[in-house]
Amino acid sequence: MWSYQHQHFNVHQIPALNDNYIYLIEAKNSDILAVVDPADASVVNQACARLGKSLTHILNTHHHWDHTDGNKALKQRWNCTVIGAADDAKRIPCIDIQVSENVFPKLDGLNIQILDVSGHTLGHIAYVMDNALFCGDALFGAGCGRLFEGSPEQMWQSLQKLGALPDNTQVYCAHEYTLPNLRFARDIDSNNKELESRIHRDTQTRMKKQPTIPSSIALEKATNPFLRPLNDTFIHTYATAKHIEENALDVFTHLRTSKDRW
Ligand code: ZN
Ligand code: FE
Repeated sequence: MWSYQHQHFNVHQIPALNDNYIYLIEAKNSDILAVVDPADASVVNQACARLGKSLTHILNTHHHWDHTDGNKALKQRWNCTVIGAADDAKRIPCIDIQVSENVFPKLDGLNIQILDVSGHTLGHIAYVMDNALFCGDALFGAGCGRLFEGSPEQMWQSLQKLGALPDNTQVYCAHEYTLPNLRFARDIDSNNKELESRIHRDTQTRMKKQPTIPSSIALEKATNPFLRPLNDTFIHTYATAKHIEENALDVFTHLRTSKDRW
């Protein structure tokens, strides 16, 4: 378990399954202890015991089993409140409170905003509090979620929202996919110096069995292929090389398709 300080809470990062991360958000000025995407109830229970605290809330980003499998057991054990997207309420196990971009959950001592970041699934949401982003499978280190349900337009809209967050926003995504993602990134963005230094740094980090996550919005904008279409020079270079239309959506769509086949 790794821990990070924010103004109003601490974040505890718990590795789970093969490559998932589960996050515990421990409020500093209240008894709130919330878990984001509990893939596995037992590791969450162990972490609660270590902190000596009771679990009060579950925050789900989307319905996939590797994000919700712990809901039922945790609800039974702690009688905690389950929060998820109104747009996906039918597929979130044990959901109690439905939220959306206009309806934020009120948790004592935390200031939570919701972003709809559909694309990987429909009704995929992200939670933003202080300078922390919990984005599930929408954005990864140097990658983004596969488009299982949404369109490229939808996903590009979602990624633009994430790219508009402050540079110092810490990206707490749900998987450790960074190194394989960086190999694709190097292939399509070979003259990017920030990308080179990230590859070097994250490779060292993984050799020490440390997480490459959280990253930051600044780092993702500079090195993540799926946020690079925010940059006009990148659009021009990529579109010219691939003989496609010179606009962000076409470049994003081409990148996503290429990565699926890569
Ligand atoms: Zn997923
Ligand atoms: Fe996942």
